[in-house]
Amino acid sequence: MNTQQNPTIATRIESIKSRLAIAAKRFDRTENEIKLIAVSKFHPIETIHGALLTGHRTFGENRVQEANDKWPTLKERFSDIELHLIGPLQTNKAKLALSLFDVIETIDRKKLVDAIVKELPHTPSAPKFYIQVNIGEEEQKAGVSINELEGLLLYCKEQKLTIDGLMCIPPSDKPAAPYFALLRKYANKHHIKELSMGMSGDFEEAIQQGATSIRVGTAIFGERENL
Ligand SMILES: *Cc1c(COP(=O)(O)O)cnc(C)c1O
Repeated sequence: MNTQQNPTIATRIESIKSRLAIAAKRFDRTENEIKLIAVSKFHPIETIHGALLTGHRTFGENRVQEANDKWPTLKERFSDIELHLIGPLQTNKAKLALSLFDVIETIDRKKLVDAIVKELPHTPSAPKFYIQVNIGEEEQKAGVSINELEGLLLYCKEQKLTIDGLMCIPPSDKPAAPYFALLRKYANKHHIKELSMGMSGDFEEAIQQGATSIRVGTAIFGERENL
């Protein structure tokens, strides 16, 4: 494994962090309350290793299997890694996801809550959980629909699954800010603290609207070969 720091990744992470800090200041936020999640999906271990050498520790993956192929090795070599699941979770992968991730951001249905609750007693260190909201009510998009959010939250409460955050991916063909604002509104209404929103192209707007974590892939690792 190449142990040299990759200057491009180091520079890009620094640049995103400084943009994060500038946006925080501009919108009267505290820089430390906004987390940068480096989205490493589709990128190989060597690339991620380069990012870890810069000292960065918070990452996002959107497939359980892919994360399982990459992260156990990396976790042996680096401590304090915080891994977020930001893609859809199938119930039959719940057990594996619980052992791999520190935050599961994509709770979106009761069946998944059931599968997680069933495995939790056998999980040594339980992750945190966010609900993904289909904030633009898009047919093809993952996430619970807005009018089912309250019911899902209630169900989580009954099942004693604590929800710490809401996550969304706004429609790609419309301005994102109103959707970020809407997600914040629901978070406030239900006293939910964490808001995962904003990607490479719109994270400053997300910070303006109250994001507590931003998920940045392309601006750090470059273009992916999308499948
Ligand atoms: C891929 C992905 C990102 C990162 O997107 P970029 O535009 O590359 O920054 C963020 N959130 C989710 C849910 C993703 O799947």
